[in-house]
Amino acid sequence: MRLNEMSKTELEKFRNQALSKYEEFKSKNLKLDMSRGKPGADQLTLSMPMMNVLDENSDMNTENGLDVRNYGLLDGIPEAKKLFSQMIEVSEDEIFIGGNSSLNLMYDTVARAMLYGTVGSEKPWAKEEKVKFLAPVPGYDRHFGVTESLGIELINVPMTENGPDMDIVEKLVSEDASIKGIWCVPMYSNPEGITYSDETVRRFAALKPKAPDFRIFWDNAYCIHHLNDTPDKLLNIMNECKKNGTENMVYIFGSTSKVTFAGAGIAFMGQSKENLAHMKKIVGMQTIGFDKINQHRHVKYFKDMNGINEHMKKHAKIIAPKFSVVLEMLEKEIAPLGILEWKKPNGGYFISVDTLDGCAKKVVQLCKEAGVVLTGAGATFPYGIDPRDRNIRIAPTYPPVHELELAMELFCICVKLASAEKLILG
Ligand code: PLP
Repeated sequence: MRLNEMSKTELEKFRNQALSKYEEFKSKNLKLDMSRGKPGADQLTLSMPMMNVLDENSDMNTENGLDVRNYGLLDGIPEAKKLFSQMIEVSEDEIFIGGNSSLNLMYDTVARAMLYGTVGSEKPWAKEEKVKFLAPVPGYDRHFGVTESLGIELINVPMTENGPDMDIVEKLVSEDASIKGIWCVPMYSNPEGITYSDETVRRFAALKPKAPDFRIFWDNAYCIHHLNDTPDKLLNIMNECKKNGTENMVYIFGSTSKVTFAGAGIAFMGQSKENLAHMKKIVGMQTIGFDKINQHRHVKYFKDMNGINEHMKKHAKIIAPKFSVVLEMLEKEIAPLGILEWKKPNGGYFISVDTLDGCAKKVVQLCKEAGVVLTGAGATFPYGIDPRDRNIRIAPTYPPVHELELAMELFCICVKLASAEKLILG
C-alpha cells in the first residue's frame, strides 16, 4: 500500500514498526561509508600490473625520440595524446595532457579565466562586476565548490531526463552577459546517471551566449564507465560545435582516475586549437611539464582504446553487482510505498534518489546516527541548499557487497521512518 493512501492510524503503526527496526539496527554499532564515489580496493588492484610495465631496462623515449624522464612536452607525450584524444573524441592536436586530476584542470581553467580572461574575453573575468555560472541540479558538489570558492555566483538549472533544461539555458545565456559558463557531466551524470540526448548536445553547440567568452565545462568523467552491454551513447560535442563555428565555446575534460588509480592517474582536456594555444602560453609559466613517466606507463600498459575498454569491463564486473544491490533493495522495500523516486543508470558511479519533499536531511541524519555515512543532503546543489530537501546521492562502489547490503537495509528503514513521520505531521 502506498504511504499517502494510509489512514493516520495505519501510518502510525507503519512508523512504529520502522522505528523498532531502526532501534535494532542502531544497536549493531555499524560503521559504514556510502558517501563518496571512490573505487573499491579490488578495482584499484586491477591496475597493479601497470606497475610492472617499466623497469630499469625500459625504453624511456617517446615515439618522437624525447626522453620521458626529462623536461619538455608541456602538453603531453604524443602517444598519450593519441590514446586519450580517442577517449574524449577530439583530434590529437586538440588535447592537453595534464597531471593527476581533471578537477585540478577544471579549477585551473576557471582560475586562469579569472586572472587572464580567455579567448574572446574583453578583460579577465575577475575584473568584471559579476561572474555567474549555470549549475544543472542535482549536480557534482566539487564543480560547485570550484566556482563558489572563486567568488562566482551559481544559478540552478533543473535537470530533465535529457540533460539540463535547454529552454532555460538558452534563455539565460542569451540575455545575461555576466553568465560565463556552465558545468556539465554529459554522460552518466553525477549524481543521476543521465546521458544528454542528441538534441541537448546540438542545442549546446548552437548556443548564442551574450558573453563573448562563455564556456561549456563538459566534464566527460564517465564516458567509458558503462555498467552493462547496452551503454548510453553521447553525441560528439566538438563535432557539433565545429558545424556551428562555436568550437572555442567548449572545454572537454576526462581522466583515468576511475580507470587506473584515483588521484594517481592522468587527466586531460580537449579544446579547440585556439583555446589550446592560449592555455599553453599561460600554463607554460606555471610548469615545465607534467608527469610524463606516468603517461608513458599508462600508454605502454593499455596500448590502445581496445585495451582500455577491456579493462573497463573488469571494473563493470566488480561494480555492477553493487548497483544491483541498491536497485533491488529499493525496488523491493520502497517501490510499493511510493515515497522515493530514482533512475537506473547504465553507467557512472552513482544512484540518485528523491525522497518526499523535506525528508532528505532527516534520512541522512538518521543513517548517520545509526552508523552509515551518506553524502550530505544538499551537497548536490550549489551552496548546499536543496530547495525541496529531497535529493540524496548514493555511492555504491566503495563498500564491499556485504556492507552495502547492510547499509541499504538501514537506508530503506530510514526512508520509511522519515516519510511516515513527514506524512503524520502533514
Ligand atoms: N568529475 C566528476 C563528474 C566526478 O564525479 C569526479 C569524481 O568523483 C571527478 C571529476 C574527479 O576527477 P579527477 O579525479 O580526475 O579529478
